[in-house]
Amino acid sequence: MTDVIIIGGGFPGLVAAIACSKLNLKVQLFDVKDSLKDSQLHAFKPIVLNAASWQLLQALNVAKSLEPKAHGLKTMHVLRDTWSTFSFDADQRRHPHLGYVVMGSDLQNELARKVEQDQNITCFLNAKIDSIEAGAQPKIHLADKAYAARLLIVADGRQSENRTKLGMAYTQSEWDKNALVASVELEDSCEDAYLRFVSGGTAACIPTASGMHQIILAKQKSDDIFKLDDEALLVSLKEHMADICKIKKLHRHMVFPLGQGIASKVAMPGAILLGDAGFAIPPVGAQGLNLAFFDVGVLADLLAHAIENQVPFNDEKFSQRYNQTVVPHHDKLLKGVSTLMNLFDMNAIWLQSMHGLALKLANYVSPFKRYVAEFGMGFRYPMPALIRGQVPKIYPKVMRHAEVDSDA
Ligand SMILES: Cc1cc2nc3c(=O)[nH]c(=O)nc-3n(C[C@H](O)[C@H](O)[C@H](O)COP(=O)(O)OP(=O)(O)OC[C@H]3O[C@@H](n4cnc5c(N)ncnc54)[C@H](O)[C@@H]3O)c2cc1C
Repeated sequence: MTDVIIIGGGFPGLVAAIACSKLNLKVQLFDVKDSLKDSQLHAFKPIVLNAASWQLLQALNVAKSLEPKAHGLKTMHVLRDTWSTFSFDADQRRHPHLGYVVMGSDLQNELARKVEQDQNITCFLNAKIDSIEAGAQPKIHLADKAYAARLLIVADGRQSENRTKLGMAYTQSEWDKNALVASVELEDSCEDAYLRFVSGGTAACIPTASGMHQIILAKQKSDDIFKLDDEALLVSLKEHMADICKIKKLHRHMVFPLGQGIASKVAMPGAILLGDAGFAIPPVGAQGLNLAFFDVGVLADLLAHAIENQVPFNDEKFSQRYNQTVVPHHDKLLKGVSTLMNLFDMNAIWLQSMHGLALKLANYVSPFKRYVAEFGMGFRYPMPALIRGQVPKIYPKVMRHAEVDSDA
């Protein structure tokens, strides 16, 4: 029997594996793919890792090797028009950056490399799970073999088959929106990130370490922009980004359908849902993966506490504590993103002007700016050790029978 079985080697599954290994737990990681390295899916995704996620990666010794491929974000601007800009910075005293932008393929490949080198982690690829059991004896079955563990972590994405097999409730909805992600070259380099409200959606401009910028447009599926050829798309992107940056060249682009899903409970005795399997939101606020990293931090604290006190990982108490800590954060973020998405559909000019005015006025309110910066940086409470940049410390309690033995 191993300590932890993880199903799914996406970003959260790999980070959970490294975090468990840091607690000296033995991990078996299963994925249907034939490699943990990126299969081009993430090559198009700029991932904004907030300051909290970056501290977690530092604690797990991943940040250092990723740093040359990461762009540190100091300032973010949110606007409707240039006159209505709300800007916020990192808190310079404690954190130089709001977060870091990395390309998804760099993140996936770096995490995969760490996992493959880790002596505590065994990977099983091309692994399609036939059945799964949680409860007092968590186990999975594949290819006529059973694998048992003290805890199962299910991280196999939004369409998670294994969540369904466990019978865990999940409310899913497709959005009538797509995200178009385009790699572009600018006339002049721009260090800051921008999020602009445009007709029917948002347009973001995100700098990356390679010097290229990523434009992300979230709009109704029926919007003409998704039907344009490269030449017309370049013209349209220039219009969307007018007054913010001058686009010189369009390199490539990809379209992702947007949807969301939320599990009312992400833990049951013996099993935990992690990443999009438990909570998936559109990338409009660049928050989904960051929240999954926070969840890994919470899980690491609970595992450390359980090891220290020699209590099980697979009982009702453990899953209750996990749910009570992480689920309120999922609910709060879902509400925040839904509010943001409502601002997309503000079609009346007077409403748009009021929103612009609100952004402009908010820009003068320092405590509000600090609140937004802190939220954007991902510092949520209670703050897990990994999010503080530390691996949770374990001081195993001396067992009574060991004391008796030594007396004898
Ligand atoms: C365009 C875009 C930009 C984004 N930008 C950001 C951002 O800036 N910041 C942010 O926080 N989030 C962002 N996100 C969200 C983030 O990418 C996702 O939250 C994250 O990738 C989810 O990872 P996951 O491992 O849960 O799911 P997936 O990426 O779907 O991975 C699931 C893994 O499980 C494996 N698997 C599937 N089924 C099985 C099975 N039956 N058995 C075994 N293995 C299985 C798959 O092969 C895969 O490896 C973005 C998303 C998009 C689309």
